Amino acid sequence: MAGEPASFEKPLYISSPLLPSIDDYVEKLKEIWQSRWLTNNGAQHNKLESMLMKQLKVPNLSLFNNGTIALIIACRALRLSGEVITTPFTFPATPHVLVWNGIVPVFCDIDEQTLNIDTKKIEMLITPKTSAILGVHVFGRPCDVYGIEKIAKFYGLKVIYDAAHVFNVEIDGKGIGTFGDISMFSFHATKMFHTAEGGCLTFNDPDLKKRIDFLKNFGIKNEEEVIMPGINGKMNELQAALGISVIEILEQEIQKRKTLFGVYKEHINIIDGITICSGVSETMPQVLPNYQYMVVRVNKQIFGKNRNELHSALKKYNVITRKYFYPLCSEYACYRQHYSSSKVHLPAANTIADEVLCLPLYGALSVSDAEKICDIIKYIKEH
Ligand SMILES: *Cc1c(COP(=O)(O)O)cnc(C)c1O
Repeated sequence: MAGEPASFEKPLYISSPLLPSIDDYVEKLKEIWQSRWLTNNGAQHNKLESMLMKQLKVPNLSLFNNGTIALIIACRALRLSGEVITTPFTFPATPHVLVWNGIVPVFCDIDEQTLNIDTKKIEMLITPKTSAILGVHVFGRPCDVYGIEKIAKFYGLKVIYDAAHVFNVEIDGKGIGTFGDISMFSFHATKMFHTAEGGCLTFNDPDLKKRIDFLKNFGIKNEEEVIMPGINGKMNELQAALGISVIEILEQEIQKRKTLFGVYKEHINIIDGITICSGVSETMPQVLPNYQYMVVRVNKQIFGKNRNELHSALKKYNVITRKYFYPLCSEYACYRQHYSSSKVHLPAANTIADEVLCLPLYGALSVSDAEKICDIIKYIKEH
């Protein structure tokens, strides 16, 4: 039996931004300096927009200064109101954008396997005020897009997806951003593809493109006409140039993450009580994965320690994990009072939120680091 593994010298975090060579970025900055055009549909912006349409296999795309503003505009562009059914197992931005549109978020429980909104529990939450379903494709696993589409069609509801975790994911050979009425991708620095801050909306209806682009630029139509109460959601040239540099090295990053994901899988699958719940499982052969996150579930009965104990124990070895997503949005002070936030109605979400832990996964992590993290987890289990 090997002895106690040594701690990492420097702290390891769950992500580290993918950075292109500084020279490559400076080349693009020179182009921007020469153009003296810093924002409002510049050359870099337009180039990135078309590059991303190809990358994500979507027919329409609008860039934004961040994913949250993009999602706020998506609700606005579809004229959502009243109530929207969503998941409590997500980042705070998801329910918050509804509130910023004067909409009440209605929390639906999640599916134990995908960790996404449970299609079987959506219908009983529909009221005359319901205008849409807002699903989140959590940790790279797609929602039941076909089941949700069926319900939405029958009840006349819109469908929006928070696709912040599924950049590059495909279902049945189609870009995941082609499902539902609108999907939002976040390009925050912690995401696999990023522009430091940024995001986009993707959609099939070409008429939405104009409305969305007016909404992100104050509703300005021309010099003398402002046709709707828009906001400032534009992506600038420095962000767009960074995105172009990042997209050029993205394929390498995905391959590195794929290798690391495989290393984790090999080692974690033999630790009793720990299961991987991110990425695509063997039961989803129709899905192209993206390896954005490495998230595990800790079964206290079998592992012998609970998630919080594992989280603290790993910290002692300089492995700084995150409890994603804990607490649930339904437990926030601003949502706790909602009738749909009751724990009785959200059993799966409440159980899972107490068991998940996000581990380091990014291209700059070495294979031996990933192996060492697994060895540390094994050691923690046995001591
Ligand atoms: C990152 C993230 C967001 C927020 O995106 P920003 O670009 O940071 O505004 C929203 N939802 C989910 C699920 C996310 O992971």
